Amino acid sequence: MSVMTEAATISESTARFLQQQHQLLINGEWVDAASGKRFDVVDPANGEVIATVAEGVSEDIDRAVRAARAAFESGPWSRITASERGKLIWRLADLIEHHLDEFAEIESLDNGKPRAVAAVADVPLAVDLFRYMAGWATKIEGTTIPISVPYMPGAEFHSYTLREPVGVVGQIIPWNFPLLMAAWKLGPALAAGCTVVLKVAEETPLSGLRLGELIQEAGFPPGVVNIVTGFGETAGAPLAAHPDVDKVAFTGSTEVGKLIVKAAGDTNLKRVTLELGGKSPNVILPDADLESAIPGAASAIFFNHGQCCCAGSRLFVHRNHFDQVVEGVADAARTIKVGPGMNPATEMGPMVSKIQQERVCGYLQSGLDAGAEAVVGGHRLGDSGFFVEPTVLVNTKPEMSVIQEEIFGPVVAAVPYDDPEELVSAANDSIYGLAAAVWTRDVSQAHKLARKLQAGSVWVNCYNVFDASLPFGGYKQSGWGREMGHEALELYTQTKAVTVQL
Ligand code: NAP
Ligand code: MG
Repeated sequence: MSVMTEAATISESTARFLQQQHQLLINGEWVDAASGKRFDVVDPANGEVIATVAEGVSEDIDRAVRAARAAFESGPWSRITASERGKLIWRLADLIEHHLDEFAEIESLDNGKPRAVAAVADVPLAVDLFRYMAGWATKIEGTTIPISVPYMPGAEFHSYTLREPVGVVGQIIPWNFPLLMAAWKLGPALAAGCTVVLKVAEETPLSGLRLGELIQEAGFPPGVVNIVTGFGETAGAPLAAHPDVDKVAFTGSTEVGKLIVKAAGDTNLKRVTLELGGKSPNVILPDADLESAIPGAASAIFFNHGQCCCAGSRLFVHRNHFDQVVEGVADAARTIKVGPGMNPATEMGPMVSKIQQERVCGYLQSGLDAGAEAVVGGHRLGDSGFFVEPTVLVNTKPEMSVIQEEIFGPVVAAVPYDDPEELVSAANDSIYGLAAAVWTRDVSQAHKLARKLQAGSVWVNCYNVFDASLPFGGYKQSGWGREMGHEALELYTQTKAVTVQL
């Protein structure tokens, strides 16, 4: 395997954006971090510094929370109509769409993903999410409820519920889909009428900052969305622990998710929603159409370089077709064009960071040491940049870390099975439960397995199908709550029951 090195030149507008003195967005203004410190943003395709951003710490989080609180309690946002909220969100969607090419370029340079993929997936999905949520702003409704209080015979009441925004929300997002994760978080919060402090990932802060500029341009009042760049331990942790934050919404590792829950519990018992890791089973039944299942299995793991919380990282194949499927997925891996995201021919870019590359290679080494075999791949790739070979592992054992833990890289473990019952327990043998897939021509089997698999999303004869209207989230240690759909919106509101004696 080899890695391409050439990359297209950066457009003028993106080059201008990169050179800006990036600041924090607090109370409608771009400001330096209180410490005055900055940190580097690196292009993972070559390790070069492409920008620097402000290093926000707890003092900045504090300022941002105060701005969000003021905007929520008494700013113009607290008085605007639901329709106006919806219009602002829609306008933001239009602006992102207008700058689609620029966002695709920024994501590619900052995260490493192919620019062409960001242009057809990340950015349009973010646009669509904001549009979907814009529509909900005017449809957040309570109910009227007939009550019959037994100890007040003859009394008459009018009872109803109000669905109110939870308040100030802290949002902490990861680096795998930087713009899209910001959209998943901001869309429902804004539609519900909350105000936000968003902490973007240290590895990929740039699209969030560009989004901040468009939030300003769209006309959101000051303090409604505050954006802080910084590190997890020094900016994320104080946000999760802040006593004046009403809810924290987090996407990232299960390990940090547990810290978020602890921080919420130790302070003000703020609401917590979590979208965490996964180790998703992708199941090929004996009757599957292998012509679609094999490329489907390859794309389930190799899309976004395997840096997807729902990546199909455990591939279960009936023994009858095991060799054929493994060979097919390995062939697909061999033909993937690996290179910088900015090269138009690139199908797979680098891992997001050196740390992530090392983490993935560490898993590979531990699997190989424990007796697994790489049919293809198994190592880092190239001399510069953070590339890893697309890898197919076989001969794994259930207790190996490559089977139990989330690798978050282009590594799939293929496991044969004989008996359908054994398959279900093997597929569910995970602390995670984010997604699963089944490939079959048998409709009844598909529905039966969909019920038995412990996962928040089950795909049949497809993988990685996302829509703004479909709830997404985890069973077990893959999370609490749901992103997208009506369910996400509900998690940014709380119910008030009002009773009037007539
Ligand atoms: P992570 O540490 O969980 O980071 C996710 C977000 O949480 C980032 O914004 C991070 O900030 C922040 N954070 C880190 N420590 C924090 C703390 N103590 N309190 C509050 N916020 C904190 O994930 P990672 O280091 O980027 O990747 C590690 C592993 O997480 C991956 O290998 C993968 O298994 C998993 N992961 C899952 C997803 C997903 O979509 N479910 C996404 C990314 C990663 P910094 O970026 O500044 O550290
Ligand atoms: Mg990190």
